[in-house]
Amino acid sequence: MASLEPSATLAMAARAQALAASGIDVIDLSVGEPDFPTPPHICAAAEAAIRAGRTKYTPAAGIPDLRKAVAADYARRSGLAVTPGQVVVSNGAKHALHNAFTALLDEGDEVVVPAPYWVSYAELVKLSGGRPVLLETRIEDDFKLRPEALRAALTPRTRMLLLCSPSNPTGVVYTPDELGSLGDVALEADLAVIADEIYDQLVFDGRSSPSFPTLRPGLVDRTVVVAGVSKTYSMTGWRIGWTICPEPLAKAIGNLQSQETSNPSSISQHAALAALTGPQECVAEMCRAFQKRRDLVAGRLAAIPGVRLPEIGGAFYAFFDIRSALARGGISSAHWCEALLEKEHVALVAGSAFGAEGHVRMSFAASEEKLAAGLDRIARFLGA
Ligand code: PMP
Ligand code: GLU
Repeated sequence: MASLEPSATLAMAARAQALAASGIDVIDLSVGEPDFPTPPHICAAAEAAIRAGRTKYTPAAGIPDLRKAVAADYARRSGLAVTPGQVVVSNGAKHALHNAFTALLDEGDEVVVPAPYWVSYAELVKLSGGRPVLLETRIEDDFKLRPEALRAALTPRTRMLLLCSPSNPTGVVYTPDELGSLGDVALEADLAVIADEIYDQLVFDGRSSPSFPTLRPGLVDRTVVVAGVSKTYSMTGWRIGWTICPEPLAKAIGNLQSQETSNPSSISQHAALAALTGPQECVAEMCRAFQKRRDLVAGRLAAIPGVRLPEIGGAFYAFFDIRSALARGGISSAHWCEALLEKEHVALVAGSAFGAEGHVRMSFAASEEKLAAGLDRIARFLGA
């Protein structure tokens, strides 16, 4: 426990909230959560569930209707045949990830994690007895893992590859070819793959984000897809996410969950069911808003001398290189974020939390007014 780091994203958000509570005009661009309210028809379904008395334990792996809806939604979008028995509904995608690591990793198993990576991956792997092997990627490659780099990192203990596309923290989206060639390595080296596809519907410029197991025959048998409603339907507080994987593994994960946490909230499950089976226009609408904000943020950041960032194809993060500013000040990204919060009252997250010192992450899940004001302050601070 002493070696476990707290979540840097949540810690920064808590600091920003504390400052705001003391009356300071803080622009919090730290934590990654959609700023839109949960759509009203989803909230109505939760209210109806309460009134109908759906307030008791449910099957540990989730109510049958929701498992069916997750399978049907994924099958429709991916083209793969999926049964409800392959789905386990958990308390958010974070819990789903923890379940998958616990089920699959033995003590000392190595998990290849391309860096920059989302803060919780390395700590969750360690909690499950695994060893995260952090593989640096380059901004020149759009922070994408290349198959030859993956091959070079393999050892007899390599058990798993972790992929996140669209990516938190970089916003980068892998192409089908890029994912397919990583799939080839996974097949050759007999790896399990966790494909974190929680942002798969938040993609820009007409892109689509292919689901990893669709790219090569045989990947379905070795992949755990992780997703949920948190980002797609602006439901972060409801705590519903899931794994989709081969049935025997899903059964094991369901058993694990039945002992550890029982079912996720019955009311939230009914809300998630309404999200998946109800009108989908709300998703397209939020996605359009994120794309507009992406245009604003990417344009403004790229115009600041010395700042570099990759092409943001999805999610709601800008991960930018400020090494020249850090070198001038002789400070780390963490110190820079501290100083930015103190002097300009803008909260970002240091790249070091994502395994990429020299960079910072900005969430653009905020209004255009807030983003514009935040960018003014960031530009002023970088100029100073
Ligand atoms: N994976 C990624 C890449 C994320 O950004 C998040 C957001 N915290 C999660 C998983 C966890 O999602 P949830 O809030 O549903 O636990
Ligand atoms: N995914 C979000 C982020 O990276 C939520 C915070 C968290 O769960 O760490 O900021």
